[in-house]
Amino acid sequence: DSANPGSPAALDASKLSMTLAKTLKPLQSIETLRFGQSFSDHMIVATYDPEMGWSAPEVKPYGPITLDPQCSCFQYGGNVFEGMKAYLGPDGKARLFRPDMNMRRMEKSCARLALPPIDGDVVLELIKRLVNVERRWIPKESGYSLYIRPTLMMYKHSPDWNVGLGVTASDHAMLYILASPTGPYFSKPVSLLAVSENVRAWPGGTGGHKVAGNYSPGFLPQRAAAEKGYDQILWLFGDDRRVTEAGAMNFFVVVKRDDEDGVDLITAPLDGTILPGVTRASCLALANDPEFHKEISVRLHPQEMVYTMSDLAKWSSEGKLLEALAIGTAVIVGPCNRIGFEGKDIVIPGDEMGPIGTAIRKKILDIQEGRTEWKGWGVV
Ligand code: PMP
Repeated sequence: DSANPGSPAALDASKLSMTLAKTLKPLQSIETLRFGQSFSDHMIVATYDPEMGWSAPEVKPYGPITLDPQCSCFQYGGNVFEGMKAYLGPDGKARLFRPDMNMRRMEKSCARLALPPIDGDVVLELIKRLVNVERRWIPKESGYSLYIRPTLMMYKHSPDWNVGLGVTASDHAMLYILASPTGPYFSKPVSLLAVSENVRAWPGGTGGHKVAGNYSPGFLPQRAAAEKGYDQILWLFGDDRRVTEAGAMNFFVVVKRDDEDGVDLITAPLDGTILPGVTRASCLALANDPEFHKEISVRLHPQEMVYTMSDLAKWSSEGKLLEALAIGTAVIVGPCNRIGFEGKDIVIPGDEMGPIGTAIRKKILDIQEGRTEWKGWGVV
């Protein structure tokens, strides 16, 4: 900044440089796409140095990065990320879905891990540039999209710090943004195993932020659940077995009301142990919207409330548990067909997703793919 010599440079999308790949990879046929398994030709990288500030961001060929093995991101998990998708609509335009929400969440995740602050609006501008460069990678078919993974990690210390392996935040950071073509996450209903002996998040912890360290402790319980024949974990919390999230997704249930006035759409409240999902917020907003109720001819009553496995078992035995839904960017809205708990299964009726999950999924997908304009949620 010439007006302010010596002040560290801000992240600046207008300084983006382009080094394009010499040969482009062949596009994969959509039948073979699996979530997060193939990547586009390019990525965006920028680095932060406490004296210089942000480097000019670069579009460069997708490939390995070289890092000092003592970095805090390897040793102590100093790493935050986001997950969002770009969709191609029937009008041929690429759209992101409520990307401002991802960016605000990423800013908060960085603050929680003492990473350098990022300006989410600038990161969003970089994401848009990457999507434009990688346009050919966005599948045209409905339900398919280009998954975008921005990541910010601590990557080295100033040499005069003499920190090495010291248990502290490093003062240099690297931002990179990857793009990965992807298809529908689950094609059939998922089974959940309710787990209370391991917990995903706890009061005062980091469960409400999208930080890398939240995920690896779930791998072993996830493997154990798979060995018992369940697809994902339903994470419980506390002696009263509160229902929190499903795998790395938010979780909703549709419950019949005593007054027969539509249905309750119930999910756990944002008490710091629940990731504030963009899809979760969108489901709740739709469930609160009389315009949407008119479209689907059902009155939905969104309820952000504490509920337990005993509540689920009771609603099920009374015939009130109509649908169970796993919700997130990757899956959008996916049905759950049974929940294992203490040796028994709570079975959700029906082989397919129920009418409420189906209606919400369709609405969100219509907005994402640009068939419906809705409150500025689809961003070209
Ligand atoms: N919970 C967790 C733990 C997650 O990792 C995610 C995925 N980001 C979600 C919920 C769903 O959030 P979103 O709708 O923003 O993808």
